[in-house]
Amino acid sequence: MSRTVTVLGSTGSIGVSTLSLFEESGAEVEIVALTAGRQVEKLAEQALRWRPNLAVIEDESRLPELRERLAGSGIETAAGRDAVREAAQRDAAWVMSAIVGSAGLAPTLAAARRGAVVALANKESLVCCGPSLLAIAAASGGQVIPVDSEHSAIFQVLQEPCRDKLSRMTLTASGGPFRTWTRAAMAGATPEQAVAHPNWSMGAKISVDSASMMNKGLEMIEASYLFAVPEKQIDVVVHPQSIIHSMVEYADGSTLAQLGPPDMRAPIACAYAWPDRLPWPAPKLDLAAIGQLTFEAPDLERFPAIDIARQALKLGGHAPAAMNAANEVAVGAFLDRRIGFLDIAASVRDTLDRLNGGWDLTPGGDEVEAAMMIDAGARRVASEVVDRLAAAR
Ligand code: NAD
Ligand code: MG
Repeated sequence: MSRTVTVLGSTGSIGVSTLSLFEESGAEVEIVALTAGRQVEKLAEQALRWRPNLAVIEDESRLPELRERLAGSGIETAAGRDAVREAAQRDAAWVMSAIVGSAGLAPTLAAARRGAVVALANKESLVCCGPSLLAIAAASGGQVIPVDSEHSAIFQVLQEPCRDKLSRMTLTASGGPFRTWTRAAMAGATPEQAVAHPNWSMGAKISVDSASMMNKGLEMIEASYLFAVPEKQIDVVVHPQSIIHSMVEYADGSTLAQLGPPDMRAPIACAYAWPDRLPWPAPKLDLAAIGQLTFEAPDLERFPAIDIARQALKLGGHAPAAMNAANEVAVGAFLDRRIGFLDIAASVRDTLDRLNGGWDLTPGGDEVEAAMMIDAGARRVASEVVDRLAAAR
């Protein structure tokens, strides 16, 4: 029996991996909607291949081109931010949430609200609004299954009957392209160098986050919310081979880990079939060929983002939402070559200092609305901080 599926962010790295997994596994899917930000040609190509009921492009100026490309296909088209959210509201049993950034929050919430199984790659929506998003999914009878490889690993090794005996979670990090670089060299790093990840091929934003290790910072927050574990029980270890995807330690000293070749189709397959397993021609783990698995402590001097995120998690409330927004602005400015690589973490810290707890001075009421307000406010302050840094270069 075929399953109804929507892919939000279908043209991105995770979106493409999701469709590739459907292809390779032969999973019987009926695509309800595909959505993209601006890549209209790729979206149209996917739509003609997968025949969704609806194809949505967020950038409204590209709707005429989408219409033209899909003319005569019978596929409905739409554009704009609301149309993306409405696509998520359409009745698909399984929704891949793979938009990048806090732009993914509203559509992810829309899918969670109607009780869908949400395969969550869009970590920023959890960082912005994790507790509310999870509560909304639980209240609607839906489910949020993590796709981020670390969280998928933990999700797979967590044993429900002894959840209360969990003593530590260790997120593994590849260390990114600058793992062995000096701070001075990192200061001059270009966007091309930052997005050249050693193990994973990903979108530009998460690649830069991996290079600064803010990705691991976001993932600590993601883990804390998803698995209801306090900050002090979450550790990070650098593991350059990206074979062990994360670990859980229990009170008796036993540690459980999940392993596999670095291929995002594996955690996507897990989120698709859970609690069953999806057969597909997955690359197999060949430990003898890999030879060595190595580990090192993260260098917090060169990668201050880990600590910034830890502080935001400790502060709680909307601090993670503010941090995430500041990081999105800073990464954008770095990719536009307006600020240097080390300016990313510096400007996030500066933005949080300037906001100085301002994220909690929000009117009571709707938590999601509050998070969006914090996101917008932090973006304004971060833009000023970034403009000043750019002008000083
Ligand atoms: P990507 O940049 O390759 O793709 C992002 C997708 O979102 C594209 O389809 C793009 O068109 C769409 N999009 C961008 N801005 C949008 C907007 N404002 N409104 C609507 N759609 C928009 O990113 P990615 O690497 O696929 O990552 C997607 C998400 O998954 C991110 O949150 C990332 O952190 C997370 N993630 C990715 C990986 C990976 O291996 N790529 C691993 C773990 C988690
Ligand atoms: Mg990850």
